[in-house]
Amino acid sequence: MKFDQARWSRDDAPVYEPLLSETNERTVDVDVDLPDDLTRNELTLPDPAEPQLARHYTRLSEMTYGVEHGPYPLGSCTMKYNPWFVEDLASDPNALVHPDRPDESIQGILAVQHRLQQDLASIGGMDAVTLQPPAGAAGEFAGILIATAYHEANGDDRSEVIVPDTAHGTNFASAAMGGYEVVELPSGEDGRVDVDALEGALSEDTAALMLTNPNTLGLFERDIERIADLVHDVGGLLYYDGANLNALLGRARPGDMGFDVMHYNVHKTFATPHGGGGPGAGPVGVSERLAEFLPEPHVREAEDSTAEDPTFERYAPARTIGKVHGFEGNWLVLLKAAAYIARLGDDGLSDASAKAVLNANYLASQIHYDVPFGPFHHEFVASAGDRDAAEVAKRMLDHGVHPPTTKWPETVSEALMTEPTEVESRDSLDQLAAAFDAVQSEDDATLANAPERTAAKRIDQTSAARSPRLCWQDLGAEE
Ligand SMILES: *Cc1c(COP(=O)(O)O)cnc(C)c1O
Repeated sequence: MKFDQARWSRDDAPVYEPLLSETNERTVDVDVDLPDDLTRNELTLPDPAEPQLARHYTRLSEMTYGVEHGPYPLGSCTMKYNPWFVEDLASDPNALVHPDRPDESIQGILAVQHRLQQDLASIGGMDAVTLQPPAGAAGEFAGILIATAYHEANGDDRSEVIVPDTAHGTNFASAAMGGYEVVELPSGEDGRVDVDALEGALSEDTAALMLTNPNTLGLFERDIERIADLVHDVGGLLYYDGANLNALLGRARPGDMGFDVMHYNVHKTFATPHGGGGPGAGPVGVSERLAEFLPEPHVREAEDSTAEDPTFERYAPARTIGKVHGFEGNWLVLLKAAAYIARLGDDGLSDASAKAVLNANYLASQIHYDVPFGPFHHEFVASAGDRDAAEVAKRMLDHGVHPPTTKWPETVSEALMTEPTEVESRDSLDQLAAAFDAVQSEDDATLANAPERTAAKRIDQTSAARSPRLCWQDLGAEE
């Protein structure tokens, strides 16, 4: 179903006036020498006055829901508020330089990139970090390519990657795209890795085990050191999915647990809004023995660098897997992460993880739902029981909050995967808890008709993904 303005049912909401009405259309003639099939002769651009434009965007912002409207506990997504000061930095003209400029002329930028490589390495307990991959999934894929290059360099031909059943879908996809057979590992009774099952799955064919820790149920893998030993004993590598780093920041480090390679979700943990398809970054950290395989370019301190006059250069690591993105990745996103890490410092980062864990535990203690697994860290997975989790979620929208992630992981039936993050106050956690509980006491018909108070009602997500209407003219088109 397409967006339907008639259902915009808040009584006080003014009628939505399309910005692109006929009166303000303007035609621009385009005269360039390009092949016919690549050109168009007319380009119609809207030409609104500033007040119309301001109203248009303000209206759009009111029709959606973001973390700047209220709580957004979408589990595994870490929808935390991102402070505006990082945006000021990312729009500073000094940061907007062309990456093709020679190293001497962008020393300041290389210095920030080098520091970010090091900061991320020390946060993760890794020896080297590449900033290149543009997303978490892209980081996973780069990590898998690095693992493959490492095994190949050892003359080792391995065909399998093991992934627990609670893992994010991208883990399975990254391993499969890397050319591996994906071995799905069923969780144990306690929701964690079943070490006996793991022992059974491991072999000389194991290239890597991909783990999320705490896992997507928020549970810390207590046997992580034993797991690391088992994987290393068969010559495999241990991959850390760092999307859940908000639980560990400043407190525990994947490198210390025995992980060899990991990605960071900068657009979850480090101050870039997540979602909406905007640019992100998924830097990858590796231990010493994998550092020579990192993508190029990588930034290092130049040989003639001194403490008074530090100089940096880009280079290709000895056995690089090549490029996984242009230049050093999504630089402005990385700049925001560097600024956020510098502003918070060690104390701020560990404070963030403490509050993220406290908030998840407080919220879980306030709602009257079954939470089958624990103790959990930054997120918990409640069960909607005999209700449909998706309907519970739709109805929560009517109570003025964004709902949790639904129906995943599948190890909990009708899962409501909830991650409030460190940014929520006690009041907003109470508001969330009230929304959870209010829905529980409502009848099925109310849930089936929800949401009633949002600009768009139930959206056909499959069509939205498979045949999206991305052009303004499509807004008026009939199904
Ligand atoms: C978000 C997420 C990813 C993928 O990150 P993207 O940047 O969306 O590609 C991987 N693993 C987990 C656990 C995640 O939550």
